[in-house]
Amino acid sequence: MQQIEYLRPETVEEATEMLAEHGGNAVVLAGGQSLTQMLKQRLVGGEYVVDISAIDALDRIDAGSDSVTVGAMVTYRTLQNHDLVRERVPVLAEALGTIGDVQIRSKGTFAGGIAHADPQGDPPVVASALDVTLQLSSTEGERTVPASDFYYGLFDTELESDELLTGVEIPLLPPDAYSTYRAHAPRKGDYATASLAVILERDEVTITDARLVLGSIPEKPTPLDAVTDELVGEELDEALVERAAERARETVTPYDDYMGSAEYKETLVGRLTADALTDALESW
Ligand SMILES: Cc1cc2nc3c(=O)[nH]c(=O)nc-3n(C[C@H](O)[C@H](O)[C@H](O)COP(=O)(O)OP(=O)(O)OC[C@H]3O[C@@H](n4cnc5c(N)ncnc54)[C@H](O)[C@@H]3O)c2cc1C
Repeated sequence: MQQIEYLRPETVEEATEMLAEHGGNAVVLAGGQSLTQMLKQRLVGGEYVVDISAIDALDRIDAGSDSVTVGAMVTYRTLQNHDLVRERVPVLAEALGTIGDVQIRSKGTFAGGIAHADPQGDPPVVASALDVTLQLSSTEGERTVPASDFYYGLFDTELESDELLTGVEIPLLPPDAYSTYRAHAPRKGDYATASLAVILERDEVTITDARLVLGSIPEKPTPLDAVTDELVGEELDEALVERAAERARETVTPYDDYMGSAEYKETLVGRLTADALTDALESW
């Protein structure tokens, strides 16, 4: 039987010292919604579990004038219901609301969802579209990494084994930005077959910035740059929606798996793009 030593630091310094001491032999436990399953199924090894839930400094939300910074122990549910997030980062509240069920959202943390880097996870997609800044700590010091540089592939990130993700700085969106998160799952609360975060900004009628990030189909959150190129500098109308959806379909290279055929997924990406942009056209 695998023996695991359970450690419960009360400060970030204690946690990073434990990670430095045990290196690749230790795993961080936050809300435990993925890790406990992975430990049970022996999908992750490690002789030490560093439970960060007693570190009070990580369970806080700091609102600034142009960003909101979320500690690593802030749960999906707390963040989803935060007034400033609902008002100025509505795409985040929308995305978090699609995760699992209320029990998962009450224990799981946004930082944990980001660090876990599950290709089918929702947090990496919305974090990438918002280009949040990740705050990483180790005994060597602190550093920040933009979400756009954080993901390498399947469960693979910039995070070193002796580093703790302590916080996530989320930029507030301009009040008149349009944003939405679309996830298509076989059943409500299931992992998505395809997900798409969309953020649009405009000047009068012309689109000045467009960020579309696709999740679940690629191995890591992937910006749909060809769709951005199609949209920026243009006025949103039905013809543009159609062209953008076509571009999105052409951009993806899905493969057949248990979630569906490549052809089905291509169609889904086009549909998610068209639905989001049609909503922007009607409601923005
Ligand atoms: C039934 C069920 C349904 C789910 N449905 C969805 C869904 O629809 N969409 C979705 O996105 N997810 C879903 N999840 C997964 C869940 O959202 C996340 O994986 C989980 O909540 C991650 O946060 P956590 O705090 O629980 O992390 P944990 O499970 O504690 O940790 C997950 C991983 O991240 C690492 N980690 C966590 N925090 C840190 C940190 N601060 N610094 C460094 N590393 C860290 C851990 O070492 C571990 O490898 C589901 C899970 C379950 C059990």
